[in-house]
Amino acid sequence: MNATPEGHFPLDYRSGRAAFLKACTAAGLGAITRVHPKARGRDGKPLFLDTVTLGPREATSALLLISGTHGVEGYFGSGVQSGLLQNGLAARVPKGSKLVLLHALNPYGFSWDRRVNEDNIDINRNFVDHANPPVNKAYAALADWIAPRNISPEAMKSANAKLRAYADAHGAFALQQAISRGQYAYPDGLYFGGQNDSWSVEIARDIFREEIAQVRKLIVIDFHTGLGPHGEGEMISEDMPGSAPYRRAKKMWGVRVKSSEAGESVSVPLTGTIDKAFAAWMKGELTFAALEMGTAPTREVFRALRHDNWLHRFAGVTHSAAETIRREIRGAFYPDTAEWKRKAWSAADEAVAAALSALG
Ligand SMILES: [Zn+2]
Repeated sequence: MNATPEGHFPLDYRSGRAAFLKACTAAGLGAITRVHPKARGRDGKPLFLDTVTLGPREATSALLLISGTHGVEGYFGSGVQSGLLQNGLAARVPKGSKLVLLHALNPYGFSWDRRVNEDNIDINRNFVDHANPPVNKAYAALADWIAPRNISPEAMKSANAKLRAYADAHGAFALQQAISRGQYAYPDGLYFGGQNDSWSVEIARDIFREEIAQVRKLIVIDFHTGLGPHGEGEMISEDMPGSAPYRRAKKMWGVRVKSSEAGESVSVPLTGTIDKAFAAWMKGELTFAALEMGTAPTREVFRALRHDNWLHRFAGVTHSAAETIRREIRGAFYPDTAEWKRKAWSAADEAVAAALSALG
């Protein structure tokens, strides 16, 4: 059995899903499976989004744990969900509350080792009104340099020079914001929030309706990787310091809580996130955090994302560099070392324990 924390982390989407379902069965829980209507995994097989509920379905307080919003970041969240179930999570549900575990919100990205979905959409930018999407003018000015069509060393050098010039003129934070806030006009670009609702967004809405609509007190932890120092975890809140949800998050998770909206966080303020969608849908009290585990230097993560985008949007997956690029992006979002996994596990375990005691 997986007695060590690092033993919980999966090899790939398929084994992560198998471990999750096995842990549900072993705990006497029935998972609900939704099959992806069009995308297939890297192995050519169907893809699934699985959910399980622990505790009474009619409970009015709940903790929701989401993995794989950004596919390739799913190794972390999937491992945490399976490990918690194996370690007896079912017995820890406070009386009158329930836990909902959503496994692989973006199963395509998890299976293919991509952050985005099959349409190059960043699910955590996709929750917007597509008739009236946010405008990211700074991205537009830099689009060709952020997501180059040519990744030869010379082309990358000149693209990087353009981005550096922007940072010199406007600051590093402004550059990060231009790149990663979310954009809705360049389907072949990075951090593309889509021009319609993805399947993942539709399913998230369904799950909200079925499981959360009657809940009056909700805590959400959405598991992410790729930002911040290697092995350090930050609980990213999109609420402003001083607001009630931010104060609740601070009380629950302490110094790890940082507000992206206030510029405290490793993340800039974002558009179209699940956090903002839930805040709009929720009738009761919501405390939401993305647990972001740092992996590799920003430069390496950004390079991996640009290579991945180039491969899938311009070169095609049959290109000879495909396997090298897949390994590069997997490594950028999932450091495959026992040391990193132990740190990631303990940050997640602590965050969940604090949420459970806040519920109870
Ligand atoms: Zn993420």
